[in-house]
Amino acid sequence: MDIGAGITTGTAELREATRMERIGVHSHITGLGLDDRLEPRPNSQGMVGQLRARKAAGVILRMLSPSSFSSASTTVSTAPGLSGRAILLAGPPSTGKTAIARGMAATLGPDVPFTTITASEVYSLSMSKTEALTQALRRSIGVRIREEEEVVEGEVVEIVVERGITGSGKSGRVILKTTDMETVYEMGGKMIDEMTKEKVLAGDIISIIKSSGRITKLGEILTRRTTTHTVSLHEIDIINSRTQGFLALFAGDTGEVAAPLRAQIDVKVGEWREEGKAELVTGVLFIDEVHMLDMECFSFLNRALEGELAPLVVMASNRGIARIRGTEMRGPHGLPPDLLDRVLIVATSKYAPEEVRQIIKIRCQEEDVEVGADAEELLVQIAGEAGMRYALGLIAVSQVVARRRMKNTGGGSEVVEVEDLRRAYGCFMDPGRSVQWLKEQQGSLLV
Ligand code: ATP
Repeated sequence: MDIGAGITTGTAELREATRMERIGVHSHITGLGLDDRLEPRPNSQGMVGQLRARKAAGVILRMLSPSSFSSASTTVSTAPGLSGRAILLAGPPSTGKTAIARGMAATLGPDVPFTTITASEVYSLSMSKTEALTQALRRSIGVRIREEEEVVEGEVVEIVVERGITGSGKSGRVILKTTDMETVYEMGGKMIDEMTKEKVLAGDIISIIKSSGRITKLGEILTRRTTTHTVSLHEIDIINSRTQGFLALFAGDTGEVAAPLRAQIDVKVGEWREEGKAELVTGVLFIDEVHMLDMECFSFLNRALEGELAPLVVMASNRGIARIRGTEMRGPHGLPPDLLDRVLIVATSKYAPEEVRQIIKIRCQEEDVEVGADAEELLVQIAGEAGMRYALGLIAVSQVVARRRMKNTGGGSEVVEVEDLRRAYGCFMDPGRSVQWLKEQQGSLLV
């Protein structure tokens, strides 16, 4: 490919490129793009091609939550369902394994946990590998807790607090108007004082009426309502193991949790479930670059998947027959045979040029970059030769170059043309050219 020389750029354009970066490499993906029968649409919800893999991912999610998964546009919202299963997304780099995992996450309902880690994150100084995996697994199991609370029937439309209506003038009355009824309460002076303080909210007034206890009528407008909220097992662990309670979650307290405490929490959650106060929500743990785990982690994971409180584990690997970390053995996808035995393997394959074109178009829209027809063609060609991730990375950079061109020439259009793309290509090497360059530099670089 005949590509031009590098150029200099200004800070405003660089800032713009940073903003693009924040859009996120997978932000165009809003689901798996399946129809109601779990058939993949060729181009839907930001997903293009990989039809079999997308369908397989949809089937897995339906297994996770048989009752509520109905279509690509409907989210999976409730789910004790199936747990302790594992799938492996296997395929060459940039074939959409992470994209499919994102699509799965977007398909799950808001209270179904989806945790993403990259395998190398388990190697940390602050905790052991198995603790890091345990935390990730427990982040992926939700506990939906039911609570009963008293609420005002109907919507409160007006609260009038009147002072000095009765007797000495020290007391007063409150008129509470809801959409359903209007109720009058006679109140003592102290309570009226509380209610007429500055910045008293409607909710505070209702609490004061409730706390007075003398008002029997209040029972008429209050009704018991069941509310639910979902927390992860990991959140329950942290809240109970740190002196600062739930604040530890905000402080990013990532220390270890003692095993006996976890066991107690599991017992407690078991009791809540038996009493009908809580139910488990099986979520998903996505482990990217799973071949980076070592033998200890693999055997831990194998055992953890057998536990009652195990999420669905989705793994991704772009390796062929590769060394299993921590051993001298080699295994398919860099995984040991006993773990591989229990996973369902979903393969992703290289894209056809037309699919690459569609993905490039979607990304251009996402990043708000207009690309001319010839430049688009060149991008497809670059993706074929240097990899899709590299080609997608050039989109935002080419826009910076196009803007620079406009500034320098005092006119023209912001649409990215072939020349802008060539310049961007000249600035940044792809892995292939980088290897070539290293060969040329032999002897001058440190080893
Ligand atoms: P690796 O093995 O290197 O981790 P990967 O298979 O996980 O690669 P992704 O990161 O998912 O590849 O894909 C690279 C880029 O292409 C991402 O921006 C992703 O969103 C996009 N992409 C990949 N496949 C698709 C697809 N089928 N539809 C839409 N976008 C896709």
